[in-house]
Amino acid sequence: MPTTVILGAGIIGTSTAYYLSQQQQQQQAGSGSIHLVEPSPELFASASGFAGGFLAKDWFSPASADLGALSFEEHRRLAEREGGAERWGYAKSTSITLLSEAAARSRERVDLWVRDGASRAEAAGAKPVVGTPPSWLRLADGDQVEVISEEGTVAQIDPLQLSQFLLQKCLDAGVRLHHPAKALSIQTDTRNELSSIRVADTHVSGTETDIPCTNVVIAAGAWSPQVFRTLFPTSGFALPISSLAGHSLVATSPRWTPEHEQPGGSSCHALFLSSRPGYSPEIMSRRVGGGGGGGGNIYVAGLNCAAEPLPDLATDAKRQISRESIETLRETAREVLGEDGVEIIREGLCFRPVTERGTPIVSRVADELLGPGVGTRPAPEGGVYVASGHGPWGISMSLGTGLVMAEMIQGRALSADVSGLSF
Ligand SMILES: Cc1cc2nc3c(=O)[nH]c(=O)nc-3n(C[C@H](O)[C@H](O)[C@H](O)COP(=O)(O)OP(=O)(O)OC[C@H]3O[C@@H](n4cnc5c(N)ncnc54)[C@H](O)[C@@H]3O)c2cc1C
Repeated sequence: MPTTVILGAGIIGTSTAYYLSQQQQQQQAGSGSIHLVEPSPELFASASGFAGGFLAKDWFSPASADLGALSFEEHRRLAEREGGAERWGYAKSTSITLLSEAAARSRERVDLWVRDGASRAEAAGAKPVVGTPPSWLRLADGDQVEVISEEGTVAQIDPLQLSQFLLQKCLDAGVRLHHPAKALSIQTDTRNELSSIRVADTHVSGTETDIPCTNVVIAAGAWSPQVFRTLFPTSGFALPISSLAGHSLVATSPRWTPEHEQPGGSSCHALFLSSRPGYSPEIMSRRVGGGGGGGGNIYVAGLNCAAEPLPDLATDAKRQISRESIETLRETAREVLGEDGVEIIREGLCFRPVTERGTPIVSRVADELLGPGVGTRPAPEGGVYVASGHGPWGISMSLGTGLVMAEMIQGRALSADVSGLSF
């Protein structure tokens, strides 16, 4: 079984390691040949730990529609099989907006994540109908709620808890986690084919180890271009991925507790507002998994900034939190949730990996792009792969991406058509 080294233990890297280890276990090949490398001292300190966790089945453009639908189904299947409702707060959701906002929205289905201030609700395809407001929403006089999703086509999770669950499954299956550690370089054999990767332990010792491997997956989110540059310094190719920073808040409210849940836990809502210049608030009521007993918290985000520089380490983002942005989110929280008993329990800033075209890259990298004198063995014996650039949909598309990436590495038939997601 060829050894695979996955760079980046966000939800995309972890999900790839999860499916690869599951498939290898089915083949009774063991999973000792999978390595995850993560430099951030704190795990999931980036987008995967700070995202909202909203999932959609069909809010995507044609190139990623198949992957999006597969991933939505994988989320449902995994949650059913592994107790996702209790462990990572998996629940059906309803997407809503306010009737007073309707005129401000265009109904066009577009890819939005390269634009600051755009609302993902613009991609919702359902015919809006007047609905019942969630228990936690404070409505202005005369305002009404409009439902913009079809039944069973949107869901909600806690992305940090799902990421932690996937990582634990990987470790149980024998995946090796190198943390905190960083890949320094690749080595090739006498045929100039990728044969190992040098990884430095960045904790204390700084020890460098060569891991023999023929497969490398770059899943380092917004850091993916710099990982590619480090490993393939003679390549003239730059990964077309940049970053879009986003602030967020997590609140609790006395109007969103276990008593407010409907039987079956399907009372989560995602509220999309768009009538503020350059800012499209997204407010999601989430269940708390991990034995939290239902109820949960409310996530507030939608304030993005493409100019915010990417920190060296995901954990350093804390230092870049803007008080002004947080105050804007707090103001939205006061407006939408009220103030009575509402408590802000977390403030955050994280960086989405975005592509200019608006769809992720889920692809093998052609040997010609790796630089002169660097090649790889033909699939399934070897290859360099990229799984990144998911923009605002990395949680929704995580499981599908992990599954398809594992299939691609093993040279199997793919469960989704990702032909439009290559370079
Ligand atoms: C405010 C906000 C809200 C969001 N809400 C949602 C939502 O509701 N639904 C949804 O589907 N998506 C949402 N997203 C998008 C989603 O969070 C991202 O698309 C997704 O988390 C990307 O996952 P990733 O694993 O590619 O990247 P990350 O989570 O950033 O993980 C990349 C990892 O690579 C590591 N790394 C860095 N340098 C290196 C290196 N040199 N070598 C190896 N590893 C390295 C990082 O430390 C990090 O752990 C949101 C994003 C933001 C910012």
